[in-house]
Amino acid sequence: MNLESLGIKKINSGACIGGKKWIDCSKNKSFTSYSPGSLDRISDVQIADKAIYSDIVLASQKAFKSWRMLPAPKRGELIYQISLKLRQHKDSLGSLISYEMGKIKSEGDGEVQEMIDLADFAVGLSRQLYGLTMHSERPNHRMYEQWHPLGIVGVITAFNFPMAVWAWNAFIAAVCGDVVIWKPSLKTPLCAIAVQNICNEVLIENGYKGIFNLIIGEDSNIGEEIVSDRRIPLISATGSTKMGKIVAQKVGSRLGKTILELGGNNGIIVDEDSNLDLVIPAIVFGAVGTAGQRCTSTRRVFIHKNQFNLISNKLVAAYKQVKIGDPLLPDTLMGPLIDKDAVNGYLNAIENALSQGGELLYGGSKLESLKGSFVEPAIIKAESHFEIVKQETFAPILYLIEYENMDEAIKEHNNVSQGLSSSIFTNNVINSEKFLSAMGSDCGIANVNIGTSGAEIGGAFGGEKDTGGGRESGSDSWKAYMRRQTNTVNWSLDLPLAQGIKFNLE
Ligand code: NAD
Repeated sequence: MNLESLGIKKINSGACIGGKKWIDCSKNKSFTSYSPGSLDRISDVQIADKAIYSDIVLASQKAFKSWRMLPAPKRGELIYQISLKLRQHKDSLGSLISYEMGKIKSEGDGEVQEMIDLADFAVGLSRQLYGLTMHSERPNHRMYEQWHPLGIVGVITAFNFPMAVWAWNAFIAAVCGDVVIWKPSLKTPLCAIAVQNICNEVLIENGYKGIFNLIIGEDSNIGEEIVSDRRIPLISATGSTKMGKIVAQKVGSRLGKTILELGGNNGIIVDEDSNLDLVIPAIVFGAVGTAGQRCTSTRRVFIHKNQFNLISNKLVAAYKQVKIGDPLLPDTLMGPLIDKDAVNGYLNAIENALSQGGELLYGGSKLESLKGSFVEPAIIKAESHFEIVKQETFAPILYLIEYENMDEAIKEHNNVSQGLSSSIFTNNVINSEKFLSAMGSDCGIANVNIGTSGAEIGGAFGGEKDTGGGRESGSDSWKAYMRRQTNTVNWSLDLPLAQGIKFNLE
């Protein structure tokens, strides 16, 4: 692993405002990043404290003053330059994601490609931050709305997409004229340092600092500071629902804005007439990909009772082919879980499902023969009312649930607190339209004949209910990173009031 080309050292500082030097954190605690697959010690990171946080906020505030006045297409030019460097370093960045987070190399490369796609999207967007014009009811008056940047955007990211989630937010925020302070997960700090180094090169070449800032620290310290800080008008937080509830309350209590991208419990409904050549690979990729550690991972599959045995047998046969091991090797399909706690979460959930009456059809154990945090992907025949089925366990556990008719399947599909991604596999237009209608899936993402995971960046990404309601990345999500201003300009020589109100001064 060539970590030097990404600027990763044996001991790294955990704070940067984008100049040539990283901020000195040597007096603070150190965290070690281990590879979950090999348990290798990768590197150490000295974390930031409150004083460093304070300096970063001041530098960001200063940078915002000039960044907001730079024309948006010029801001897009900076993102374009970052995208060129991402292309140049795609292979090593993909490998680092795989090494530090544990997803397979192809998915690591895919995550970097997602950042590149997002950068391209943001560059185009920098010329399309459109506002509306309205016809004023008053003569010779012009009304329109325009969008202004918010200021500092605090970006809190989860371990499972240790680079792309930052890009979802940071590239869009930057072309909107905001500056970004990134607090990544302590489980994947090196991915963040590598991305910051790439940004630094471009910032230095263009004479900027304070646009992309990084602060690595503890939730109880740095996390708490960011969410409570009135100088940060928008917090975009990606992670568990538990975290989202804390962040929503703290930011809400100061009337700040949030974009919350939280946990999912994603389901697929397999209609009786679906094409099983699509169904089986879609379920396996959705449930086993990233070792079940995607927010959009497939966790529940609803199968018509007439087809239950056929489909469950096909799934078991497909699971037997999944090669588990070193995520950097090209033929591996499933890498490790992130850490021991995740393995325990997996084992506890399986025990819980079985104690509630579930039937284990495949897997269910830790793979003791491998050194890291490896488990077998599990398939469990379950019922949708089991408490454990209603929870998101961030691991490769797939619950298969029988249904008798489509209305019941949709009802049970929606009967969980999360609402991120969903799919139906069908060739029946009535069922597919029903699933997509207001009485259908209650999720932020609803697909037909493709699985729940692997969203494209062009669509607004996010979910409802306990998933938090936020939308990042595509469509018009950029509006969440800006403030709307309604403007009325009077170019007449009178001062007529709206709604015909008369207010005559003698
Ligand atoms: P997590 O909630 O443990 O941590 C996420 C981030 O929040 C980390 O940076 C963490 O340090 C920070 N954090 C935690 N508590 C905080 C607090 N009180 N104040 C400030 N920051 C705090 O989640 P995780 O284990 O890293 O990631 C897995 C979870 O993320 C899953 O639930 C998954 O579904 C979700 N996720 C959601 C999306 C989405 O777009 N909806 C995308 C990726 C991951």
